Amino acid sequence: MDRYRVAVIGAGPSGLYAAAALLASGEPIDVDVLDRLPAPYGLVRYGVAPDHVKMKSVIRVLRQPFEPAHVAFLGGVRIGGADGFPLEELRARVHAVVHATGSSLDRPLGVPGEDLPGSHGSGAIVGWYSGHPDLVDLAPDLDHPGVAVVGAGNVALDIARVLARDPEEMAATDVPDPVLDGLRGSRVRDVHVLVRRGPEHVRFTPAELRQIGELAGVDVVVHDDGLLAAGVEPPEDRRQRQNLALLTEWAARPPGDAPRRIHLRFLRSPVEILGDDRVRGVVVERNRVEGGRVVGTGERETLDVGLVVRAIGYTAEPVPGLPFDAATGTVPNVGGRVVREDGEPVPGAYVTGWIKRGPTGVIGTNKGDAVETVAALLADLPHLPAPARPGPLVDALRAGGLRPVDWSGWLRLDAEEVRRGGGRGADRVKVAALADMLDAAHGART
Ligand code: NAP
Repeated sequence: MDRYRVAVIGAGPSGLYAAAALLASGEPIDVDVLDRLPAPYGLVRYGVAPDHVKMKSVIRVLRQPFEPAHVAFLGGVRIGGADGFPLEELRARVHAVVHATGSSLDRPLGVPGEDLPGSHGSGAIVGWYSGHPDLVDLAPDLDHPGVAVVGAGNVALDIARVLARDPEEMAATDVPDPVLDGLRGSRVRDVHVLVRRGPEHVRFTPAELRQIGELAGVDVVVHDDGLLAAGVEPPEDRRQRQNLALLTEWAARPPGDAPRRIHLRFLRSPVEILGDDRVRGVVVERNRVEGGRVVGTGERETLDVGLVVRAIGYTAEPVPGLPFDAATGTVPNVGGRVVREDGEPVPGAYVTGWIKRGPTGVIGTNKGDAVETVAALLADLPHLPAPARPGPLVDALRAGGLRPVDWSGWLRLDAEEVRRGGGRGADRVKVAALADMLDAAHGART
């Protein structure tokens, strides 16, 4: 019988776990994994902090469907949008599409001054130090000793850690050379993490919280208005209890004299970002929590900062042609089957990862998520209409004037990054500019 064809859009962890699950099914399915960037791995490459090297080793698992080449990688191909390959054209060539495009937009805070130069979303800052081609030119000003990071999730901790860490430790990571230069020239001394609730509510994972306490040359300063010394009711959640124990220990320590500090400021929300031509400070209001709700007390103070980063979670770009729930930043679905408002499935359309469930969970969470989606797809596959225009997708892309980067192209880019790393004592140094990525992938000199 003819083979089925499935396209996965997005080569991040969720898309690659879906590709692996399709392959593991043993069904006669040809799988193409498309990504708008010439490199695979999505958030592992561009979201996991550069100094979390062990966490990036999941790449060894994620690349398995490509080696040997059971699944095709088609990088540097944008689907949909004004200049992308039309989704309908893709749909016409496959039985099913799995959308795994994640949540790439920063959520706004909604306070005055948020649009000033020097006020950034976490995605922009993380993308910059991770060498994302869209953010090579961001170069945030690190010329002021104070930085505010808003949020109490792991992304806030990642950013605080990277900005406070000794830059010589960052030289051993994959950050691009201009990023390392920026960190080496940084005058940042005090990173203020603004947590809107109390120490018992933070969403950090305990290992990540512990890590900031172990940084060389960095003191963690807990600003809790004496709450922890007075005793805070332990939360039910085990991780939150572990966080609380650690924070209680830190709050009781005498002040240190390290050259840089990460301040954890509890029950504080930014209400205005100050500045004229750039950020010059942030006004912070003290909160109390009433029945789970954050309520401002009207008591305000101003922190002297030159950079504000909001790490308050992400939302997704709508997928053209699919329903979208703007409140959750997800595509409505039942177990991965995309559904319309009336609850009817959109034939052949599936979602997995953050675009399916929202921006939560660790990388491994995407595995079970993808397995669920693929199970739905496999159950539907025999009943889905055959592609209207069959034939290899890569041919259609080339006929549309595109020059996809295949797996061997990615391996050329990969080798170039490893080569660059050798000069700096790092496993790799990222090639960040899109043109340079494409040159390396297509075998031109960079
Ligand atoms: P997150 O864990 O959802 O944390 C978002 C934080 O922003 C919460 O503390 C939330 O506070 C706060 N927040 C939301 N709106 C706010 C507002 N208007 N003002 C002030 N604070 C506000 O999101 P994330 O840090 O972006 O991480 C996303 C996911 O990736 C998480 O599941 C995370 O664990 C994961 N991740 C894991 C790692 C790792 O394992 N090392 C690293 C990075 C990310 P409330 O709690 O009060 O709502």
